[in-house]
Amino acid sequence: MHATDQESLDAASEDFGHLIRRRPAAVYRPGSARDVAAAVRWALERRMPVAARGQGHSVYGRSQAEDGLVIDMSGLCGVHAVEADHVTVGGGATWQSVLDAALPHGLTPPVLTDYLDLSVAGTVSAGGVGGMTFRSGFQSCNVVKLEVVTGEGEIVTCSADRHAELFDAVRAGLSQFGIITRAVLRLVRAPEMVRLHTLLYPDHRTMTADQRRLLSTGQVDYLEGAIRPHPSGWQHVVEVGVWYPADSPPDDDRTLAGLSDIRAQAESVDLPYRELFQRLSKLESLLRAAGTWQDPHPWLHSFVPDTAADDLVTELLATLGQEDFGEFGRIVLYPLRPAHASSPLLRLPDGEIAFLCSLVQFPANDPELADKLVKTNRTVYDRIRGLGGCLYPVSAVALTQPDWKHHYGPLWPAVENAKTRFDPHHLLTPGQGMFPTG
Ligand SMILES: Cc1cc2nc3c(=O)[nH]c(=O)nc-3n(C[C@H](O)[C@H](O)[C@H](O)COP(=O)(O)OP(=O)(O)OC[C@H]3O[C@@H](n4cnc5c(N)ncnc54)[C@H](O)[C@@H]3O)c2cc1C
Repeated sequence: MHATDQESLDAASEDFGHLIRRRPAAVYRPGSARDVAAAVRWALERRMPVAARGQGHSVYGRSQAEDGLVIDMSGLCGVHAVEADHVTVGGGATWQSVLDAALPHGLTPPVLTDYLDLSVAGTVSAGGVGGMTFRSGFQSCNVVKLEVVTGEGEIVTCSADRHAELFDAVRAGLSQFGIITRAVLRLVRAPEMVRLHTLLYPDHRTMTADQRRLLSTGQVDYLEGAIRPHPSGWQHVVEVGVWYPADSPPDDDRTLAGLSDIRAQAESVDLPYRELFQRLSKLESLLRAAGTWQDPHPWLHSFVPDTAADDLVTELLATLGQEDFGEFGRIVLYPLRPAHASSPLLRLPDGEIAFLCSLVQFPANDPELADKLVKTNRTVYDRIRGLGGCLYPVSAVALTQPDWKHHYGPLWPAVENAKTRFDPHHLLTPGQGMFPTG
C-alpha cells in the first residue's frame, strides 16, 4: 500500500524551499478519507510521524516526516458540487481548480492567494492571505465545514456548530491536529473585470500612508504592495484593483483621489478577473525556464503592527542586500485588519491595522548563502517579535517549542489541550517542531 521506491521517497524529501531534506520511510497516495484514516492508524501502530503533503510549496520542511509516512493528498483533488454560496472540495484540491470550477457559475472564493497552485488544505492550515484579505479576512476564515482525519485515525466532520473545538483547531492550526480530507468553502459573486492600477512611490512611508488611506475609502477591492530591487535603488509599488462589470468601467478619479503616488508613472490595465491570479504562474514558467524555480527559497513572512511597520522597513532596506532578492524578489508589504481574522489560532498583532511583511528572496543557488539568509531570517523574526509582530508560520525559520509558546502566548494552553485531544501521540506534522518527540 505504501510506496518505498527511490523516486517517491526523493520527491517527498524535498519542498519548494530546497533548504531542508528529510527522508520519509514511505509515501502513501490515498483515494479517500477512509484510506487516510487507515494510513494514520497504520502509522500510529508503529508510532511513526505523519505529514500530509499538498502541493509541496512549504519552504522549510513543513510537509516532510523523517523516517515517517508522507501522505500525498494529490489523489483527493476533486472539486465537487458548486452551490450558490459554497463549494465542496477534496483536501488535495488546488485554489486554481476551485476558481476554475466556481467561475463558470459567476462565483469565486472571497480571498485568493497570489499564486493558485497551492493546496486548499495547505493554506487553510496556515491562514491564506492575499489582496482581498483586507476586506474578507483569511482563507481559513472563509471555510464552512471540514472533514478531518485526526491523529488517532478518526474521521470527523466539523464546523462552527459541530465539533467546533476541532474546527477551530484545524483552521490555521498548522496541521497539528488533523489531516483535512474535504472542505466546504464559502463562495461569493465574482466580478467580470478588474481595473488594476500600479502606483509608484518615492519611499515606503508615502506608500504605506496611501495603503492606509485606500484601506479605509471602501473604493477598492484588491490591495497589495511591494518594495522591489531596482537598478536605481528600491522601487515602491502599490497595486490597487477595482472590480467592475464589463459594461460599466470604474471612475479612476474617484479610486485614486487624494493619493500621493508619482502619478506620471502610474499604470492601469483592465483584466478579466481570472487573469489577476495568473500572474505568478507566468513568473513560475519564466523561473522554470531559467532553471531557478528549483533554487533555495529562504522566504520569511510576518505580520507587523501598523505602528512599527515604517521603521521596520527602514531597517530592512538598510540591512538587506538587494542582490539576495534576485531579479524577481521583493519585500511584499500590504495592510489588513486583524479584526477580520476569525480563525482563533491565527496570530496577528494587536491594533486596527497590521501589515503583511514578507521577504520573498530568490538568491543565487549557493547552499552557504541560503544558510546565511535563513540565519538572517531568524534575526529579522526576533526583531519583529520584539516589535509586537507575529510570524506567518509558512516561513524559513527554525522554531523551537519555546518559540511556539511565545508565538501562541495566552493561547498556548489551548493549543496543548487540542494536541492532547486530537493527536495525543504527536504523530502529525513534525516539520513544525511544535511538539518534538524523543
Ligand atoms: C510561489 C508561492 C506563492 C505563495 N503565495 C502565498 C500567498 O499569496 N498567500 C499565502 O498565504 N501563502 C502563500 N504561499 C505560502 C503557502 O500558502 C504555504 O506554503 C502553504 O502551506 C502551501 O501549501 P501546499 O499544499 O502547496 O504545500 P505543502 O508543503 O504540501 O503543505 C503545507 C503544509 O500544509 C500541510 N498540509 C498539506 N495538505 C494538508 C491536508 N490535507 N491537511 C492538513 N494539512 C495539510 C502540510 O503538512 C504542510 O505542513 C506561497 C507559497 C509559494 C511557494
